[in-house]
Amino acid sequence: MSIVQIENLSKIYGKGETAVKALDDVSFSVNKGEFVAIIGPSGSGKSTLLHLLGGVDRPTSGKVMIDNTDIYQLDETQLAIFRRRQIGLIYQFYNLIPILTVEENITLPMLLDQHKVDSGQLESIVSTLGLDQRLDHLPNQLSGGQQQRVSIGRALISNPAIILADEPTGNLDSKNSKEIIELLKMFNKTYNQTLIVITHDERIALQADRVIEIADGRVAKDEVIRP
Ligand code: ADP
Ligand code: ADP
Repeated sequence: MSIVQIENLSKIYGKGETAVKALDDVSFSVNKGEFVAIIGPSGSGKSTLLHLLGGVDRPTSGKVMIDNTDIYQLDETQLAIFRRRQIGLIYQFYNLIPILTVEENITLPMLLDQHKVDSGQLESIVSTLGLDQRLDHLPNQLSGGQQQRVSIGRALISNPAIILADEPTGNLDSKNSKEIIELLKMFNKTYNQTLIVITHDERIALQADRVIEIADGRVAKDEVIRP
């Protein structure tokens, strides 16, 4: 079953002389539970693609369907709600809110929409991430690896249709990188949580079910490693 379908997606930044075509007519689908690595040179359009999948920017043309919702048909308010409910975003530099505690950062997407947090689910996520003893800490009291775990918790708390990660290990040493990838893989395999990860690290790409290579705003290669 496909959970993501993108059709003829293009993105042009700017206008006229200085316009940059960052994505050029990209189409593909992702199946529920798939772990997809997106690779490609710097400036090839990977982050643009991830932002469009995540509903954080709007395409110049084309369509993004997530769990049967045509997300760019939604207005800004509806899109913001859809994003908090159905899309878990993980960034290289964590993007945590410095004045909120670990628990508050994790539960924020739910609280913004007045959704009740399931305490059992929160407990289970927090303990899987090894953050039990850290719930009242602020982000700057945590190591980089722990901060990234918090951002994984925030991404997972709403049981989203997809998890999108942009270089999630790009700021971590190799031990923490490995732990973060193991956690993402565990949620992917155990809970059939669809995972799309941009990475420069070949060791991570080789662990994916499928590798999509982007070059000059187009899909240069799309290879299933594990059917
Ligand atoms: P990657 O993630 O593969 O490094 P990006 O998607 O960040 O690539 O960028 C693709 C192209 O779009 C690059 O040429 C980049 O300079 C350009 N670009 C990205 N974001 C913007 C922006 N906000 N305004 C103008 N150009 C941008
Ligand atoms: P060291 O810790 O001795 O510097 P590495 O961490 O580079 O060595 O590699 C140790 C093992 O961990 C290797 O088998 C490597 O494939 C694996 N590894 C390292 N980093 C990652 C990562 N980001 N994702 C997956 N596997 C990794």
